[in-house]
Amino acid sequence: MYKVSNRLNKLSISETLAMTDKSRQLQAKGIDIINLSIGEPDFNTPDYIKQAAKKAMDDGFTHYSPVQGFLDLRQAISNKFKRENNLEYATDQIIVSTGAKQSLANVILSLVNKDDEVLIPAPFWVSYSELVKLAEAKSVIIKTSIDNKFKITPQQIEQAITPKTKVFLFNSPSNPSGILYSKQELKAIADVFAKHKDIFIISDEIYEHINFRGKHESIAQFDYIKDRVIVVNGVSKAYAMTGWRIGYIGAPKWIAQACNKLQGQITSGASSISQKAACAALNADLTSVNEMKEIFKKRCDLVFKLLSEIKGIKTFKPDGAFYYFPDVTYFFGKSFEDTTINNAGDLCMYLLNKAHVATVTGSAFGDPNCIRLSYATSEDNIIEALKRIKTALYKLN
Ligand code: PMP
Ligand code: GLU
Repeated sequence: MYKVSNRLNKLSISETLAMTDKSRQLQAKGIDIINLSIGEPDFNTPDYIKQAAKKAMDDGFTHYSPVQGFLDLRQAISNKFKRENNLEYATDQIIVSTGAKQSLANVILSLVNKDDEVLIPAPFWVSYSELVKLAEAKSVIIKTSIDNKFKITPQQIEQAITPKTKVFLFNSPSNPSGILYSKQELKAIADVFAKHKDIFIISDEIYEHINFRGKHESIAQFDYIKDRVIVVNGVSKAYAMTGWRIGYIGAPKWIAQACNKLQGQITSGASSISQKAACAALNADLTSVNEMKEIFKKRCDLVFKLLSEIKGIKTFKPDGAFYYFPDVTYFFGKSFEDTTINNAGDLCMYLLNKAHVATVTGSAFGDPNCIRLSYATSEDNIIEALKRIKTALYKLN
């Protein structure tokens, strides 16, 4: 009997991508599915970025790129860090990768040894715990509560630290909860790690620009821990460039070099054309980014209004990203026809089959009491999807 490696056997599939796949299959059969499962802006990439890609092809940027990324793009990223975050990263501290997902994989595989512990506050983004598994390390999940807006406290972190702790991995704005940590909250977290000098902090800031509260705050701003912080970011979400596959890190030089070495054996440099497009994106002002953000904010308000009208859904209005992560435990134990809802996964399947709305189970994000709804879709879709969800939920008893 042929078998894949133990490493692969242990790995779970990405639930966000699996649910999206399922809804695409149903759509192909002619079923009218509204997809609230994938976290992907529904906007087109702005024209000035597409023009830069076309020019790149015409100018002959169709060959291998340097593994770490073109210098002009790394310069644009360095300038962006300075301009938007007041962070100093020289071009040799920046590595461009095939999406922030690869950036995360690079950093985790470069830093973490077998059996090391990685602290991850739940709810977390699906791929974090799986990438840790791939590195043969152990995720130590720090639980939070919706009543506390899913925020961890410095005390919880302190309690979770052991001599094996190697990395603290988190994101703000958060996928899936949409919360933001304030500067004071980040400082309190930084202060914990100031005392534990062997622990690295991976800060995933891919939703930086989808922030409805104000200025983005990065944990890398605290100089006393900056030599142990790796900032992960990319152009997928802010610039509606998910398909272009460009992510990057700002990191201490030795970590950047390690990621460069790893990437050189796995993928080489990211797509040359996409890099030139990302360079144009990052060198421009934020007009189109802010326009998209305003639309996300309006949708966020709309979803809040509609979700609040559904009895049994427990939620709060998020401050960023484009997700809601409501608690749905009220529906556990309820049935309709031949379906009984025992958990969030059952509820997602029920909503897919009966309401034709795709969502993702919270268990994929480390919180089995919730489901995730992405509102990166039109207002019409949101209104129709929430109407269908309400009707299907009210049938349960
Ligand atoms: N981090 C988070 C929190 C995300 O939601 C995503 C979305 N896929 C990524 C990283 C990866 O983004 P990408 O690979 O498209 O740059
Ligand atoms: N980050 C998005 C999401 O969470 C895209 C899907 C993925 O890469 O997992 O849905």
